[in-house]
Parts: sequence; structure tokens; C-alpha cells
Amino acid sequence: MLITPKIRGFICTTAHPQGCRRHVESEIAYLKGHLPALKNPPKKVLVIGASTGYGLSSRIVAAFGAKAQTIGVSFERPAADRRTATAGWYNTVAFEELATEAGLYAKSINGDAYSDEIKTQTLDLIRRDWGGEVDLIIYSLASPRRMHPKTGESLNSVLKPIGQSFAGKTVNIMSGELSAVNIEPADEEEIRQTVAVMGGEDWKFWIDALSEQKLLAKDAVTVAYSYIGPELTFPIYHEGTIGQAKKDLEKTAFELTEKLQQQGNGAAYISVNKGLVTQASAAIPVVPLYISILYKLMKAQGTHEGCIEQIVRLFSDRLYSGQPVPLDKGGRIRIDDLEMAPEIQTKITELWNIVNPDNLSDYADLAGYQEEFYRLFGFAWPGVDYELETEEKRAIPSIDV
Ligand code: NAD
Repeated sequence: MLITPKIRGFICTTAHPQGCRRHVESEIAYLKGHLPALKNPPKKVLVIGASTGYGLSSRIVAAFGAKAQTIGVSFERPAADRRTATAGWYNTVAFEELATEAGLYAKSINGDAYSDEIKTQTLDLIRRDWGGEVDLIIYSLASPRRMHPKTGESLNSVLKPIGQSFAGKTVNIMSGELSAVNIEPADEEEIRQTVAVMGGEDWKFWIDALSEQKLLAKDAVTVAYSYIGPELTFPIYHEGTIGQAKKDLEKTAFELTEKLQQQGNGAAYISVNKGLVTQASAAIPVVPLYISILYKLMKAQGTHEGCIEQIVRLFSDRLYSGQPVPLDKGGRIRIDDLEMAPEIQTKITELWNIVNPDNLSDYADLAGYQEEFYRLFGFAWPGVDYELETEEKRAIPSIDV
């Protein structure tokens, strides 16, 4: 079929298989010349949330950088009834094909990572193919909902401030229209549910299950991703409902480190990453405007990074540098350092206060944001002929559909 982008709100409902392959190829190509030799790199890596964004880049760096075997878990939709698959599905197809060509073990599990069923399937695969010895687990889920595996409760996460309503501005990335946003504060129930979806409980369930079944290497490391961001997004992010969930994730990291230390020399880390364009961040009010101003400033400064650049630094400068992992006062890994640099943040605050519909294109990299957004779904990639019909049904080699 002929595949064109179909945008609905902050999501694109179509994806292009060749473009998604170009995306994966371009991240692999970046590794050449940018990834220094790693000290004691991981060999068997489980990535939970492996098909897009930070999780996909983590899987790429683990496989093509560290030459690790990888198992990726994600929740994506295959093509059906003249509907394309999701981008994460096509990314996984491309990742597995390219990994196999490079002689790297790569298998994927598609389904709800929150469920006991998918955990059992993944652990069975790890036992069967690897006999255990998982030495890195990346936890990179971003989801609006979770069905609790023990209680059956259906939980939803919301992006709301806590305690008081929030008035700010945001941009419609597609139309470039600047508008005011007013968001009412969350109630206790919404906070509880957001923490249940995006907090640490499910991460703990994964590590507990791997540990109970003796599938972890003695020095296993696990990393979950977080975001803090600038004060101007604090009401809606760091101090809002999602921020509460991230604090719960941080608390879980300490608990998991204790557990991993009891049975070996492992550790659980939170890595605070840079704000950038992914399917998850596009959904957060205010954040796309902040990110498009940030992109403009960081590109001008020559410090702009995407997911792959971030994860290369996570592996080479933080986790596998041969030095103790550098942590901030709160015990977190920081790879958002360039975003949070005082000169960048001072400038953003200044621009934030004066940005209006007339000067928006001077201060914000809307075109850059849009291009990255399209590219997430396999569009706007050079070298792909979007005028040609293409087969939308693609199989992930390790998955029977
Ligand atoms: P993303 O939307 O690109 O990726 C989410 C991944 O989770 C996908 O692989 C998807 O298939 C998977 N997933 C979602 N629900 C699932 C389920 N029920 N079962 C199995 N897999 C499921 O998101 P992202 O932006 O890469 O975010 C990943 C993590 O990084 C999140 O914790 C996020 O808070 C954090 N982070 C994001 C940013 C940012 O700006 N995007 C910045 C810092 C930290």
C-alpha cells in the first residue's frame, strides 16, 4: 500500500516500514566513531520498552555497541486490514534483521509487560536460550495505563499538577499555534493511579521475578529512566502526578540495589535523561514548546543530542567507563547535564517569558521538532521513496503472529 502520515492529535496513526528501518540504521551508524571501548560491557541484556525512544536506543547500543545478546519486550501492533503496523513494530523488525545480519542474538516479546503472562514468557525465554546470567536490565516503559497483575484493577496515568491548577502555554506542533493551557490539579485517586502505572512497582516485579528464578548475573545492573527538567515545567512534570511516579521509581531503585547487593554485587540506577521528541513526550502539555526552544538553543550551541547520543554517553561515560558510576546528591545518574547547563536554562527562561505567536519561529525549532516527530513514525527519512507502494505486513523474525 501507499503509506502516508496520518496525524491525530499528538500521535501519527500510520508508520512506514522502510523509514523505520532507516531510523534504526541511522542509530547504528552513529555508534561508529562515537562509542569508545566499554569496560566490562554487558553480555545478556533485557530491555523492557525496547521498540521506540530511549529503550530502542538502549537496545541498539547494547547490541551493536557492546555486542550483547538482547531480548526486547514491547507492546506494539502488527499490520492488519490495510492498517499499517506501529512504528515500534517496524523498528523491531528492522532491529532483529540487522542484528541477525551482524551475527548478534536478538529476540523479542510483544505484549503487555505489566502482565504476569509476558513476564513468564520472557523469563522462560531467558532460561531456555541463555540459562540466566542477565547482566543488564533496562526499564524504559512509557504507558498511559496498566492492568494490575495481582488485583486486576485497570489503572490510568494522568499528567496533572498537584495541589493547585496550572496555567501555562503550549504549542500545537503541527499547526505551530501557541495557546494557553489550564490544567486542574489531580485528586488523590489520580495520583495513586499514576504512581501505580509509571512508578516502581512493576520494575520491582520484574527484578524480583528474575532474582527468584535465579536468572540474574551476580553483578547484574538495572536502570530505569526518569526526567526532571526545568523549573518552568515543574508544576506539570517534576512536581505533578508523573513526578510522583518518578519519585516512587527512585525509591524503588534504592530497594532494588539493596536486594542486588545481598545476592551479589549488582545495583539499580535511575538515569535522568534529556527531554526530547518521542511518542511519550509529545503527549505532555507544555513540554513540546519547551523542547522546541531547547532544541534551537542546543543546536546553536552544538550540544544537541537525541536518544542514541544520550544512551551512548550513558554506557560509555557512566555505566561502563571502568570508574565508579557518577551519581548526583540524590543518587541518580545524570545525562541531562547538557540540557540543564545554567547558560541554556537561563536563556530558556528568558525566551519562555517573551515567546508569542509572532516570534515563535525565531525562538523555537518547530521545524526540527516536526521533522523528528515524523521520523519517529518512519516519515521524512532521506533515501526512502514515499511515492512507492510498500508491503505493510512485516514479520518480526522471532515472533509468530
Ligand atoms: P516511548 O513512547 O518512545 O517508548 C515506550 C516503550 O514502552 C515502547 O517500546 C512501548 O512499546 C513500550 N510499552 C508501553 N507500554 C507497554 C506495555 N504495557 N508493555 C510492554 N511495553 C510497553 O517512550 P520514551 O520517551 O522513550 O520513554 C521511555 C522512558 O524514558 C520513560 O520512563 C520516560 O519517562 C523516560 N524519559 C523520557 C524522556 C523524553 O523526553 N522522552 C526524557 C527522560 C526520560
